Amino acid sequence: LAVFSAKSYDRTYLDEVRAQRFQGYDIEYHAFALSEETVRLAQGCDAVCVFVNDTLDGRVLRALHTGGVRAILLRCAGFNHVDLNTAEELGLFVANVPAYSPEAVAEFAVALVQTLNRKTHRAYNRVREGNFNIEGLLGTTLHGQTVGIVGVGRIGMATARIFHGFGCRLLAYDPYAGDEFRQYGTIVDLDTLLQESHIVSLHCPLTEGTRHIINENTLQRMRPGAMLVNTSRGGLIDTSAVIHALKTRHLGGIALDVYEAEGELFYNDHSGEIIDDDVLMRLMTFPNVLICGHQGFFTREALTEIAGVTLSNLSAYVDGV
Ligand code: NAD
Repeated sequence: LAVFSAKSYDRTYLDEVRAQRFQGYDIEYHAFALSEETVRLAQGCDAVCVFVNDTLDGRVLRALHTGGVRAILLRCAGFNHVDLNTAEELGLFVANVPAYSPEAVAEFAVALVQTLNRKTHRAYNRVREGNFNIEGLLGTTLHGQTVGIVGVGRIGMATARIFHGFGCRLLAYDPYAGDEFRQYGTIVDLDTLLQESHIVSLHCPLTEGTRHIINENTLQRMRPGAMLVNTSRGGLIDTSAVIHALKTRHLGGIALDVYEAEGELFYNDHSGEIIDDDVLMRLMTFPNVLICGHQGFFTREALTEIAGVTLSNLSAYVDGV
């Protein structure tokens, strides 16, 4: 098995699961992303293990197949970056990890909201300088606030359960919502959600229909001073429109675990390049902005699950051959 885009934690968790349950497998780790240039590294392997930033277009899939690879194991949920038609044509086995830990991402979304709301990030910086003054750090009690959840799938539902525990009033917008949410709150249209929510949390997938679902127009419809949190995908938000809404103080604050340009910025960190993005730098000048580098999924439990399901998928392929 050739693992691409391997970070030290991928190695730790895959090695641990292999030692427990899959001792027969040989694993090679490569820090490089899979691409036309790096595909030769998989030569002679039966399977590759890849992440969201690896290239799996028709050319790469054909080159993998020619090199002897027969299984593609995605250690992520999304597979929009895989040319499934070519994979099928070549008879490649493709498997993902559909739900490794919705709670990990939901808990992180709520943690971001609470950090931004109670200004803990700013308090921490002050105290490090010996300043215990709390002026300017006034927050809002979450109990009784209205929280709007856009997309009540696995992560959106886990987020709803947590906010419900805080005593929040819950609204959701999801054109394909099941019945489960109704025990926690009300399903409404997007406009109502934006107008009534003190906090808006995004949990829908990025599709052509949801790209820039938060834009100049929808930001205007939000309650003045409301807070936005995005742990889903950067492309859901028009970042320039957010900067404008922060300048006019219409938007009360924003917490982002995912960022529009993160593809180029965050996944290339092994190159050692300093991230230089004007929009990101402008965002960072606002005190009511909190940005993280896509770490919602990053818990021991989620990594254990990802490694376990990935190697189980490999085992299912091997058993089926
Ligand atoms: P899911 O498929 O279980 O749920 C997505 C929900 O969005 C579904 O209920 C769907 O009906 C709804 N939806 C679809 N189109 C919509 C629209 N136009 N408006 C509103 N709702 C819509 O997915 P999930 O497992 O809950 O994951 C949600 C998102 O979280 C993923 O798409 C992924 O981008 C992101 N994610 C982030 C991290 C992280 O580390 N930050 C980790 C995993 C997943």
